[in-house]
Amino acid sequence: MTYNIALLKGDGIGPEIVDSAVRVLEVVAKKFGHEFNFTPYDIGGVAIDKYGIPLPEETVAGCLASDSVLLGAVGGPKWDTLPGNIRPEKALLGIRSKMELFTNLRPAKLYAALKDECPLRSDIVAGGFDIMIVRELTGGIYFGERGVREGKYGEEAYDTECYSRMEIERIARVAFETAMLRGKKVTSIDKANVLESSRLWRRVVHEIAKEYPEVECVDMLVDNAAMQLVRNPGSFDVIVTSNMFGDILSDEASQITGSIGMLPSASLGNTKRGLYEPIHGSAPDIAGQNKANPIATILSGAMMLLYAFGLTKESDAIVAAVDKVLTMGYRTADLAHGGEALTTVEMTDKIIENL
Ligand code: NAD
Repeated sequence: MTYNIALLKGDGIGPEIVDSAVRVLEVVAKKFGHEFNFTPYDIGGVAIDKYGIPLPEETVAGCLASDSVLLGAVGGPKWDTLPGNIRPEKALLGIRSKMELFTNLRPAKLYAALKDECPLRSDIVAGGFDIMIVRELTGGIYFGERGVREGKYGEEAYDTECYSRMEIERIARVAFETAMLRGKKVTSIDKANVLESSRLWRRVVHEIAKEYPEVECVDMLVDNAAMQLVRNPGSFDVIVTSNMFGDILSDEASQITGSIGMLPSASLGNTKRGLYEPIHGSAPDIAGQNKANPIATILSGAMMLLYAFGLTKESDAIVAAVDKVLTMGYRTADLAHGGEALTTVEMTDKIIENL
């Protein structure tokens, strides 16, 4: 099969880590008999320097014409003093909205070889954990009606949480479909004891659950979920939740893996095409030094193969190679704690050798 992939390398370590992922994908293509055509487009600070805006039309058109999009990261001190509407980060919201991406998939997995990186007690993570957070990305309180007004006690401000049945149905379906590819358990997180929007959320999630009898569906209040993530992270498979709860819980979940350079993500819409990117930023402090951990971006490539192209074997091969290299003890500087560290290119070479 032939797939056209738009590359948004961006700023800082973006070009180095995207180049690593491309090298890995090229080897996978050769091994499994596919063809991946990569086309780079400018985004973020590099686009500001060239065109005066962070998200040029050509980039949007290129992404919309592609089968999928792989992004590095954007931003850096050079552009920090620009006004908000032409900051590099503005391009991220822009491209997500142009591609109509309403789902954010964020795995939080503890690799056996990296157990010591986890800030939780060893008995809690003895069995490891592998969680997929499915966060609604375009609705809820971040997009609801808001304002500032004069109230009973003077100046006040408000934001509103609003979810439609349609928005809940479509995110719930993504969660159940995802669970079918994994451990067949969905934990739906809400605040149904207080919020009306959560009560609708809960009702609709259970309606959709009936379409997936093989998948266990459990409700959990968000305050309890925040506790369970650090008490018993191994009890979760897929978590589905609203935009704001997902924002907070996905950061909590990523921290208990202990390694920001390891975590991929995917943003999905109604089409197969999605946007795949590491969860970390452009790491300007180590940019251009061949020191960045490329694994989050390489694993973002693996997620793309699975979710955008349905290439399960190929995706699994990348994950297995990463696992193997970590088990063999190879580390980039962020995980080496001052010990012997591989460069970005050397880590990529090791993963390729083990594919
Ligand atoms: P960051 O994630 O870039 O860096 C935080 C720390 O983690 C730094 O010490 C960095 O060196 C380290 N780090 C991050 N990724 C790493 C990797 N792959 N390998 C090794 N070490 C890694 O966050 P920040 O410093 O808060 O932000 C830097 C810039 O990135 C800012 O301009 C910010 O706006 C931008 N940013 C972009 C995105 C994105 O493009 N999606 C996300 C977050 C931040």
